[in-house]
Amino acid sequence: MHRTHTCGELSIADLGKEVILAGWVQKSRDLGGMTFIDVRDRYGITQLTFNADDNDAMRAQARELGREFVIKVSGTVIERSSKNLKIPTGEVEIKVSSLEILNAAKLPPFLIEDETDGGDDLRMKYRYLDLRRNPVRNNLVLRHKMAQEVRKYLDGMEFIEVETPVLIKSTPEGARDFVVPSRMNPGEFYALPQSPQTFKQLLMVSGFDRYFQIVKCFRDEDLRADRQPEFTQIDCEMAFIEQEDILNVFEGLIRTLFKNVKGVDLVEVPRMTYADAMRLYGSDKPDTRFGMQFVELNDVVKGKGFPIFDNAELVVGINAKGAAEYTRKQLDELTDFIKRPQIGATGLIYMRHNTDGSLKSSVDKFYSEDELKKWSAAFSTEPGDLVLIMAGGTDKVRKQLNELRLEMGTRLGLRDKNTFAPLWVIDFPLLEWDEDTQRFHAMHHPFTSPKPEDIALLDTNPGEVRANAYDMVVNGIEIGGGSIRIHDRTLQALMFKHLGFSKEEAQKQFGFLMDAFEFGAPPHGGIAFGFDRLCSIFAGLDSIRDVIAFPKNNSGRDVMIDSPSTIADEQLAELKIRTTI
Ligand code: ASP
Repeated sequence: MHRTHTCGELSIADLGKEVILAGWVQKSRDLGGMTFIDVRDRYGITQLTFNADDNDAMRAQARELGREFVIKVSGTVIERSSKNLKIPTGEVEIKVSSLEILNAAKLPPFLIEDETDGGDDLRMKYRYLDLRRNPVRNNLVLRHKMAQEVRKYLDGMEFIEVETPVLIKSTPEGARDFVVPSRMNPGEFYALPQSPQTFKQLLMVSGFDRYFQIVKCFRDEDLRADRQPEFTQIDCEMAFIEQEDILNVFEGLIRTLFKNVKGVDLVEVPRMTYADAMRLYGSDKPDTRFGMQFVELNDVVKGKGFPIFDNAELVVGINAKGAAEYTRKQLDELTDFIKRPQIGATGLIYMRHNTDGSLKSSVDKFYSEDELKKWSAAFSTEPGDLVLIMAGGTDKVRKQLNELRLEMGTRLGLRDKNTFAPLWVIDFPLLEWDEDTQRFHAMHHPFTSPKPEDIALLDTNPGEVRANAYDMVVNGIEIGGGSIRIHDRTLQALMFKHLGFSKEEAQKQFGFLMDAFEFGAPPHGGIAFGFDRLCSIFAGLDSIRDVIAFPKNNSGRDVMIDSPSTIADEQLAELKIRTTI
């Protein structure tokens, strides 16, 4: 027998028991007469003691144990003389009667402790050692718990988990596909799914009614920080529903997760239209943990001779409450922040509502105190507030002010990790103009249904057509999104036409789906949540990497197994990618 107990379960109630434990050596201390070893497994740490009455060979062996040796010991549970009440096993220790080394270990390249000295690269190269550390393992335990809760909730709502294939053909979710050459069909390739989108829709045609899958998806994108080429979605689809049904079922899922995993009662998940989100926050994923909503000022500031405002399509600002005392230096920092190339703004105008009640702006030359009173009224400022204003083209200036708003939220301590502000953003535009290709793209994906009342606009003003599409946002992070789908061949064909597909292209790529729509497709819709992201929010982490057991680095590499890698010429020849060896 390797063990009678784990290293995390013995307590004062077990005094006198003869036990066998196995695990890794966390550390050892040799105090002359006594040797103490901490042995660790997934469940905890237990202290082992060896003393002068023990046989010499065993003591000598105990003294030689290095960090991370795998050992097995038998002994008696005794009370500790100096207790450690911080850990559950801290009142007892094991007086060892026999020690067996199950496997020696090289000195690990970094400390296997909660705080490690290992840098990112080293930890990733030896990820299996990193995973021995509590914080990393706890993240994966959390992930496991969340997956169980998701399954429990959806199962309770009659969803059926169906596995869809991994070797498929390209689905247009807007990213590049990873492809896999087919040996049996030389010159032809499978694509790895960017999502199971078309399959889940076909399952609705098949009458499954409610489907879900916790599923790996693949997107070959240039890796921006914190993207992984393979990631996990909670992918769902429902038939005979309307948008309202989806919002309710999945609000329920998120609520259940927060309650059962984090013990947090979410009050409500408010809804905001895309148009309002852009107008009030300059973002389709606003962080609603704090207010600081945009105030548009065209009516208030134009026509007073200040060219920057007069020439701008939109003048818009925020009230940073309590920041009137910002120094010149701090304001310069903010100006530098918005002038960074990533944001690209040209300047920042401010107005202080001083604690003595006076109003002072950076453009006093153009605006009298009476004019500034109008500004103050627009922002409902109080003494102590700082108003920050930007001007420019509508879309651009909104994006820029969004960045500034988030920065101010951070600086003013309004973005607490333990506060959760979920939000549904609804009524997304169906199409999005792409400057590079000079045509419209589907904002969500081509299977998303336009709002019936907007269909007529498809020909006249495609950019104005709204979709039955929705995102769930938590703390400014998009955690999920979906839509009501088109289930009618004619409308789907019309959609492909508007997206610039020829009839033949549409038939070649999506004929199977449009054909299926002719065999009794029910109205349906769905959603997918980014499971890694959701786990990282629950774990209070900024990065999704540490909720993934074996993640890839920023260049898409797994540095542990050293992949991607070249393959042998024989393999290439077999795949007909290279004809000669
Ligand atoms: N397939 C979509 C995505 O991956 C989600 C959905 O529409 O259900 O973003």
